[in-house]
Amino acid sequence: MCGVLGILGDFSLITSKDLLLLLTHRGQDASGVLWSEDDRYETVKAMGSPVTLNIPNEQSNMIIGSTRYPTSGRKVSSEADLKTFVGPFNVSGLALTHNGNITNMPAVSSKSYDCDSEFITDRLAFHLEQNNQNLASAFQTLDSEVDGAYSLVGIHQGRLFAYRDPRGFKPLVFGRGEGRTIVASESTVIEMAGVRLERDVYPGELVVFGTDMSMESHAISQNETHSHCFFEYVYFAHPAATMESHLVYDTRFRLGRALASSFLKMGLETPDYVVPVPDTSRPAAQALAEELDVPMREIILKNRYLGRTFIAQNQEERGAMAKCKYIYLADKIRGKSVLVVDDSIVRGTTAKMIVADLKKHGATNVYFAVTCPPQNHACYYGVDIATDKELIASGTSLKGIANYIQADALIYQDMTSLENAIGLKDLCLACLDGEYPTEYARKIRKNIEENGASLDGRDYERSLG
Ligand code: SF4
Repeated sequence: MCGVLGILGDFSLITSKDLLLLLTHRGQDASGVLWSEDDRYETVKAMGSPVTLNIPNEQSNMIIGSTRYPTSGRKVSSEADLKTFVGPFNVSGLALTHNGNITNMPAVSSKSYDCDSEFITDRLAFHLEQNNQNLASAFQTLDSEVDGAYSLVGIHQGRLFAYRDPRGFKPLVFGRGEGRTIVASESTVIEMAGVRLERDVYPGELVVFGTDMSMESHAISQNETHSHCFFEYVYFAHPAATMESHLVYDTRFRLGRALASSFLKMGLETPDYVVPVPDTSRPAAQALAEELDVPMREIILKNRYLGRTFIAQNQEERGAMAKCKYIYLADKIRGKSVLVVDDSIVRGTTAKMIVADLKKHGATNVYFAVTCPPQNHACYYGVDIATDKELIASGTSLKGIANYIQADALIYQDMTSLENAIGLKDLCLACLDGEYPTEYARKIRKNIEENGASLDGRDYERSLG
């Protein structure tokens, strides 16, 4: 999970940084902006969110940028890491940055790369050279060798291009207007730039934009089935984002309605309040409150100056962040029965802490509802859950999870309701059902079953021979 941005047409570099800030929730390990200036590329990269980027007060006709979330390569720990761990990259006149995760780097190249964005730039530059700089042919060859998720944006021979892998795991949209073309991971960026959202880049489609506002579409690969990451709708994307013509806010509202029906079937006592865990679960909590005819109260408040605990890099860091993540309205909690709504239980750290804190502040009952079904498999496509073992739902029964987090009742979303709420038939649900949609990911699973999980890293970063 990363955020990418591409701009074609005269634009302020400072404003491009502001647009990139709208994608901070997709990654804040490091960030970078590349722009063209007099036939050469200039790049600024920084550790942390885009707010730390030291961008000159200039204009450029072509800009690409990204916010990084490390699913390949380690967390950026020094300025020296920025060069090879953080996009955008440029190789032989090609500039590129991507969102997603490549699962088969060691199988494709014996060269060692610090991250998959660098890998994909290098491979595409190589295929361009082999294909007389023909972008469509180069992507056709790239697709035949690469497995995984890759939504990317780049610059080649004075044009901006966008490409989405054949399964369309990760979102990518574009808009044109006012002499500009904007490509981004989320539609909010395009709206903020004052440009009309045109559409999603289709899975397997290469779109090439010219400075004269021209656009070419090339169908590079046409998979019959797609694999849109369901977790984008549940957690990653901003609620105001529109993906595959679906507003994320509406999906989350429907998820809340479905949870209300599950809650009613359990015959539990009506709570005094429905309480969202900020921020992602707010629309679902609102829907639940309306369906149960119970007030929603925001008695858990977020410490705004912390990042997402989910994208912390280790358990120690995650635990420390979780402890100062929330502030509680103690006076409103004492003596109340509450139904807490969260978007997911990944490792269980945060859920356990919230239940304990609410009880410490005098809650009589804490029910815990989750808009996502139990996640029990690793993701190889852009979420940094390297092994099943990191997930509490892998190997622990629902009763066991309820006991662990000490909730008086645990209400999970069911799979059918999840799929109905999202309303797309082609979803990746691999972290819920273990059905990995790509061939190499299935090979990784088979290798784990036969030889055990990697002991010192991610399974997709080791060579399968
Ligand atoms: S495995 Fe889960 S998180 Fe990863 S891409 Fe598929 S749905 Fe998204």
